[in-house]
Formats: sequence, structure tokens, C-alpha cells
Amino acid sequence: MVLDALGLALDPDQGLASEARLLSARHEGETAEAIIAAALDLYAGRIALVSSFGADSAVLLAMVADIDRSLPIIFLDTGKLFPATLAYRDALVEALGLTGVVTHGPDANDQADVDPAGALWMTDTDACCEIRKVRPLAVALSPYAAWISGRKRYQAETRVNLPLFEATGGQIKVNPLLGWDRARIDAYREARHLPPHPLVALGYPSIGCLPCTDKVKPGEDERAGRWRGKAKTECGIHLSQPSGTVIPGI
Ligand code: SF4
Repeated sequence: MVLDALGLALDPDQGLASEARLLSARHEGETAEAIIAAALDLYAGRIALVSSFGADSAVLLAMVADIDRSLPIIFLDTGKLFPATLAYRDALVEALGLTGVVTHGPDANDQADVDPAGALWMTDTDACCEIRKVRPLAVALSPYAAWISGRKRYQAETRVNLPLFEATGGQIKVNPLLGWDRARIDAYREARHLPPHPLVALGYPSIGCLPCTDKVKPGEDERAGRWRGKAKTECGIHLSQPSGTVIPGI
């Protein structure tokens, strides 16, 4: 730990990366609940959960609610979400007794400057995600040293090497469900009687913004409906950024 502290002092990026590696090794093989509890203890008062209130979100939200119903939970309302997602957020907040959910949205000046008509998604999805997701999340996360994500390795090829703890953007990101698969998620949700997102039954196993989310056909990757027809696979908030990277302009 002395070496870690020294490394952090000499090079914050290296120090944070060392911290993530150490935590990943220390908590390897533990249950998701134990990992969440350890992270909440380690970063007490300096950690938040980021939730899309999407298809799988109920599992992580229920685990967090079991430990601390007042944990800060960041929800990004891009202004382009399905109305069903907003209703699902409200239903889960009520069902789980969550008291720390805060909704963040895009900056009004960014929208006026870059997307005054609200149609940027049609011509430049990266720029649209930048002002509606990446920048608002950076602002929302700025008070925290760590955050919890619900990503899982099985979801997409871009996520197969997900570590338990990672250093990104000057913060520690925790992925307690990284090893979970579809069957385990569904079994947990059913055992806990957690309501499903209403769009899942309509053919949407992964749910983002309405203009950029399509139904998925049998046999397709669960995220195949996200930005269908485009090379884009991630909105940008989960792209690896070396610790301390400044989010670029558009
Ligand atoms: S997912 Fe689509 S609508 Fe949502 S922020 Fe990204 S480009 Fe814009």
C-alpha cells in the first residue's frame, strides 16, 4: 500500500490503475453483493451508482437497495428516452424505496449550440451522445471518486475483457455483475419479484434512446439493436479513457 501511495503521488494515473488492479485481485470470485458492499465501504460518501433503468437495471438497483437505499444513483435523461423508461424508473424507485436517485440532462447551452433542432442523432450520433450522455455524466460524477456500473462481459464483444475494478476518467469504476449472464439475471429478477422493463417483452433486450434503439432478432447480440446499421457500439460513457483524460470538444 505504501508503494501504491507513492505511485499515486508521483503519477495519479498509474496510482489509480494500480488501485484498480489491486482491488480486482482482492475481490476476485466474491459475490456481486459482497463486491458492492466492499466498494460502498471503501469509498463511503464518495461513490455513486449510474443506472439507465434499462432492461437489466433492476438487479443491481435491488442489491444496492439492500445495503443503502440512500446511495446516490445517477440517471441520465438524454431527452430522447422512451417514455416507458421514465415510467420504469419511477416504478423501481417506488418499489425499492430508493431515495438517492438524481436525474441529470444535457446542458442547455450545448443543446442550443450544437443540437438546436434536437435532430443531431440523425447526422452525427457521436456528437449527440457527447452532449446528451458523456458530458452530463462527467458533470454528475465529478463529486465522486468511484462509481458502480451494471455492465456484463457477455453483453458484447467490446465488454469481454471487463475487469472488476477499472481506472477511467480519474475515477474507479466497479463492475460487480461482470460475470453474470442472461439466465442468471432473469433468475435473480424473478426470485426477487422485480418488475421487468416493459419494452423487453416487445423485443428490446437492450434499451437506450428511442431513435437509436431497434428490436433485436433471435440469435442476434443483445445490443445489436443499438445504433443499428452503424459501426457505433457504445455511447462513449464506457469507452476506456485513461485516468485524467479531459472529455474532448465536439
Ligand atoms: S443514443 Fe442516439 S439519441 Fe441518444 S444521445 Fe446517443 S445519438 Fe443521441
